[in-house]
Amino acid sequence: MPYRAPLSDLRFLMHHVVGFAQVAATGRFAEATPETVEAVLTEAGRLAAEVLAPVNRAGDTHPARLENGVVRTSPGYAEAYGAMAAGGWVAITAGADHGGMGLPLTLASAVNDMFSGACLSLQLNPLLTQGQIEALEHHASDDLKATYLPKLVSGEWNGTMNLTEPQAGSDVGALRSKAEPNGDGSYAVSGQKIYITWGDSDFQANTIHLVLARLPDGAPGTAGISLFLVPKFLPDADGNPGARNSLSVVSLEHKLGIHGSPTCVMQFDGAKGWLVGAPHKGMAAMFTMMNNARLGVGLQGVGVAEAAYQQACDYAMTRTQGRTADPATPSIIGHADVRRMLATMKAQVFSARAIGLSCAVAIDMAYATGDAGWKARAAFLTPIAKAYGTDVGVAVASEGVQIHGGMGFIEETGAAQFLRDARITPIYEGTNGIQAMDLVARKMADNGEAAFRLIREIEMGAQSARAALPDVAEDVWQACESLREATEALLTQDLTDRFAGAVPYLRAFALVLGSHFHLKSALVDGGTGPRAALARVAIKRLLPEHSGLLAQTRIGAEDLYALTPEDFAA
Ligand SMILES: Cc1cc2nc3c(=O)[nH]c(=O)nc-3n(C[C@H](O)[C@H](O)[C@H](O)COP(=O)(O)OP(=O)(O)OC[C@H]3O[C@@H](n4cnc5c(N)ncnc54)[C@H](O)[C@@H]3O)c2cc1C
Repeated sequence: MPYRAPLSDLRFLMHHVVGFAQVAATGRFAEATPETVEAVLTEAGRLAAEVLAPVNRAGDTHPARLENGVVRTSPGYAEAYGAMAAGGWVAITAGADHGGMGLPLTLASAVNDMFSGACLSLQLNPLLTQGQIEALEHHASDDLKATYLPKLVSGEWNGTMNLTEPQAGSDVGALRSKAEPNGDGSYAVSGQKIYITWGDSDFQANTIHLVLARLPDGAPGTAGISLFLVPKFLPDADGNPGARNSLSVVSLEHKLGIHGSPTCVMQFDGAKGWLVGAPHKGMAAMFTMMNNARLGVGLQGVGVAEAAYQQACDYAMTRTQGRTADPATPSIIGHADVRRMLATMKAQVFSARAIGLSCAVAIDMAYATGDAGWKARAAFLTPIAKAYGTDVGVAVASEGVQIHGGMGFIEETGAAQFLRDARITPIYEGTNGIQAMDLVARKMADNGEAAFRLIREIEMGAQSARAALPDVAEDVWQACESLREATEALLTQDLTDRFAGAVPYLRAFALVLGSHFHLKSALVDGGTGPRAALARVAIKRLLPEHSGLLAQTRIGAEDLYALTPEDFAA
């Protein structure tokens, strides 16, 4: 069966688990009436299943290619993108002043989840445009906003993000691109950027690059970086694409997955651009775009996991092999081990989706209320949503291949494509290692206040579930106590020791938080329905891993540095 939009889980999570009602009750998001929310979910689900999913294979088998300096996109992408743009789906969170709908990020995240599950390569195009719109809304001059935002919001033009250079990946501060003032308020931007997603396309009239570069008086490191808007075509007096700017796509990368998404090496040769935000404050402006994109990438992982799960489940329903323990179910889903794989896949997708949507609710509430508590919660949840969502994407897609047996390794089934496509998500938008370091350092610079507030909430959730679901509530309570103790211990460590345990800590936090959301869902389900059964799988089979992970956070870095580089090479 082809991709089906997971509308029932999205509705359930928004309305019963992550507290979307708080967002809809704010004046800022008064437009998000129950009718609008339902219409958006249903229509986006239809578009994902009927328009985007059917072009997913073509993107894999007919990758984007470069012809005489122009990117030629995969078959069917132009039409599918056209449907997305015509339906107003490119930027539903953008402000009404520039043609957007001003809807909450929570709703947009649900849409991104479905679009990513249907066709990750194509969904990347509007995802980056969404981030660019947000950065321009917050930091650009009124002139730039008036010229660029309407066409980005309508999807006529697309937006890109240009940070990476060969010597500057995770270490953005090492970048060498330069910007010289032209004397007329514009700048000449020069340098080479690599891995630029959707750096060009043949179905959008203009591509707008946000480029990080250094002004002549810019200090070394991140403190001296500024942000510039550099269009492929310079808008004419009427705002339409005019003269070609001096930038080009040098080549496209050949990749493990997301073949339909052109990953460009971009050359800027004194290209005309305009400053966005204050000089030397480019990182702050770019962070607006990156934060939005980090959550978006987390939900990409969830979306691909959902699609991989659905396909594996369909296969398990029809493939017969051996005699199953359950005579009523002759196909392989009747085998206990296949059930285990499917159940843990489904439980992980639910946890990761709940964490992503809960992060989106916190971001919406922070925008709507300006409250410091919501801001801190959003900041704390963002690296968890990104890293856990994308790790789940890879793990579930890999298990999906396993459920197919040999057929999973054969490209025609499409199971392998999910795994290859998902593999980039823990890498881009800041590797998951960098996310975990952000969590244990910057996000704990408040002495762990945001972490402990969440831990308290999980404790209270477990407490209130004790009467109805005593055994699973106790498991979550105990895990949460271990997390509290490990967090206290982490705060006493120096940064090198913390970083050695950062990835296990993030994963343990996600497991406990995911179990908390499962517990909530089980309570809504009356403790006996399928959601309660899934919660039991999550809490009894996945949560126990937290104790091994937390044990690792206490080791510090000494054992790792006891091995020298020569020892590794020996
Ligand atoms: C398909 C694709 C699309 C992309 N799209 C874009 C885009 O649109 N725009 C853009 O600007 N970039 C883009 N990127 C770049 C991407 O964001 C980077 O690849 C990523 O940030 C990692 O940088 P790097 O590749 O240089 O790896 P490196 O930084 O060299 O990292 C290598 C390894 O070292 C680890 N590491 C690095 N520094 C540290 C540290 N301080 N502490 C601990 N561990 C560390 C990393 O976690 C990683 O495991 C894309 C990349 C790909 C492959």
